[in-house]
Amino acid sequence: MSLRFNAIQNLSSGPEVIVGSSPAITGIFGENVFTSKTARKYLSDEAYKSLMASIKAGQKIDRSMANQISNGIRAWAESKGVTHFTHWFQPLTGSTAEKHDSFFTLKSDGTPIEQFEGDALIQQEPDASSFPSGGLRATFEARGYTAWDPSSPAFIMDIGEGKTLCIPTIFVSFTGESLDYKAPLLKALEALNKSAVEVCNYFDRNVTRVTATLGWEQEYFVIDEGLFNARPDLVLSGRTVYGHGPAKGQQLEDHYFGSIPERVYAFMRDYETESYKLGIPLRTRHNEVAPAQFECAPIFEEVSVGVDHNSLLMDIMDRVARRHKLRVLLHEKPFAGINGSGKHNNWSMATDTGVNLLAPGKTPKTNLMFLTFFVNTIKAVHDYADVLRASIASAQNDHRLGANEAPPAIISVFIGEYLTKVLKEIKERVKDKMDETDESMLKIDIHKSIPELLLDNTDRNRTSPFAFTGNKFEFRAVGSSANCANAMTVLNTIMADTLKQFIKDVNALIEKGEKKEIAIMHVIREYIVASEKILFEGNNYSEEWEKEAEKRGLPNVKTTPLALDAMVTEKAKKLFESNKVVTHSELEARHEIELEKYIKKVQIESRIMGELATSHILPAAIRYQNLLANNIKGLKEAGISESGYSNQKQILEKISEHITKASEGVEKMIEARKICNNINATRTKAIAYQSQVKDAFFDEIRYHVDKLELLVDDREWYLPKYREMLFLR
Ligand code: ADP
Ligand code: MG
Repeated sequence: MSLRFNAIQNLSSGPEVIVGSSPAITGIFGENVFTSKTARKYLSDEAYKSLMASIKAGQKIDRSMANQISNGIRAWAESKGVTHFTHWFQPLTGSTAEKHDSFFTLKSDGTPIEQFEGDALIQQEPDASSFPSGGLRATFEARGYTAWDPSSPAFIMDIGEGKTLCIPTIFVSFTGESLDYKAPLLKALEALNKSAVEVCNYFDRNVTRVTATLGWEQEYFVIDEGLFNARPDLVLSGRTVYGHGPAKGQQLEDHYFGSIPERVYAFMRDYETESYKLGIPLRTRHNEVAPAQFECAPIFEEVSVGVDHNSLLMDIMDRVARRHKLRVLLHEKPFAGINGSGKHNNWSMATDTGVNLLAPGKTPKTNLMFLTFFVNTIKAVHDYADVLRASIASAQNDHRLGANEAPPAIISVFIGEYLTKVLKEIKERVKDKMDETDESMLKIDIHKSIPELLLDNTDRNRTSPFAFTGNKFEFRAVGSSANCANAMTVLNTIMADTLKQFIKDVNALIEKGEKKEIAIMHVIREYIVASEKILFEGNNYSEEWEKEAEKRGLPNVKTTPLALDAMVTEKAKKLFESNKVVTHSELEARHEIELEKYIKKVQIESRIMGELATSHILPAAIRYQNLLANNIKGLKEAGISESGYSNQKQILEKISEHITKASEGVEKMIEARKICNNINATRTKAIAYQSQVKDAFFDEIRYHVDKLELLVDDREWYLPKYREMLFLR
């Protein structure tokens, strides 16, 4: 029996995983995290203070202190039955990486002891030759190392076998170049802090720190493990390269907010419990638009913590799903013709005085502060739309962006009717020549109109890639499998940079003798005028918008290899270097890595398409073709007239045609791949893979294979069909 039928049979006979009732969240929340409360308990006063100073102000921890801290962390971990530790980091491959080491060691006299020294906490040298470095390590130094990042707390992973203490780290080369997602992110957040505090101080002298906040919404598909294993394309590439749409698709939209299937519900409760233990504040779960698609979202957190938690969650979901004989699909487009998955990044900034800088204020003064950050965000997105677009570019996301379900590749900003009016008013009323009316401008009472604002939000534009949603912006073009760090690094860097310029512009006016508030209002006006072409309130999926955007001169780059160009323009290099986020060479390396990732993805998909066609599709089709041919032959021999087998003949002709076309396509695609593989320059190769392999053959071959799926006897078909993966539970 084929894997497919085996899996279908096992579906109904498989044992159910009993999850039991979920424990109270407050009782388990953060129990596997070395929180400051835990640190208080396990560390000496001195060590505790040193750790806190390092977390809050980035102060260095000296060696003797590190020894004390590592001992405290080990004591805590051992009290929970942990025997191993690992440096946990987020390499540019997109997943998380670990290298496990034991606390166990031998003293010089051979006595076995458990030990975890400060050195082991602070620095490790993973065997990382297989992590992408875009040539950086090759050029500079052969190895990289992981370095403890005290700003993100240690935690215990206890899924599967054994419990492991995880030390969050950054991954850098010996010459100091970042080789991961985390290090540049931390630098971007620091750059934002610096300029945002300075801007806040125009309004409030008490602000000393600004942190960016992130609340992600993770979409994903869940399917049965047996069916997953019977689809080599899902196993190897995360997406189905073939498969005819089911008779029942998402037309009915009955899945959205419908009840969650029992098996998936058990899985959700299970991974939520694991997440709570790790301090991930998950709050919502629901069905998504597509069948078998779901979403979860946490309460927002500081960006760096939010990024860690999202990476951790993706990992936890995968591990827990296996426990339930399910598989989580994080790919942006696992099924053609069915909505893909995204990861909305809700983003704002908060002060250490407790103010959300993107929440409209209650007084004219706080209003002006809100307007300042609001308009600067719009300006940042306007000036760096291309860099923002590059930050979300991937082979997987290409399937989604612009497919009339997700935001298009054109970056624009939605702000709602009310704020559109406010900006228009400012533009018209603040005149070049400053006079008394300027003062009245400062008194726009945004807060009074909050109800209207909320109305705007409930009816908000779901098609916009970057939308203001009441007290935060929502970057919706991020892909479901992406590490949010990339988008967050860019967003916070462009914001830092724009605010820096804002300070310069305002101070120049103040130096000319202008009053502070008036100066601010004038720069705001100038920025509104300079960036208004990025604002769009209409339907982002429409063709008219594509035309309109072109007229406005907004970039619309649809494929990853070209979208990535924006990473390495002079403008981008200057942006990242002047804000001390990444250097030119780091940027070049990252660009190279992203291109290589793209090439590999398309290459793998292309290979699996060829292999499946040859080993799964064509044999089944040919067997059925034979059956029909023999049938016709038999009927003919029995003296049946042509009209008696004309239907069979028609089917046979169709099948034969699709077999020929599909196998011809595969042959030609293999030839095209050979040509691409001979190209040396990475960018040219990526473009060739996109145009000469993917665009030239994927849809064409798939068309014929999917037709065969409809024609060939169901019993002969090896690959689980869409209806089985999406609707069987
Ligand atoms: P929805 O978008 O489904 O209507 P919400 O508006 O409540 O739901 O929030 C969506 C996400 O935005 C949640 O993850 C939430 O934590 C996050 N969020 C809310 N406020 C902020 C903020 N100030 N900064 C960052 N994220 C936020
Ligand atoms: Mg949302």
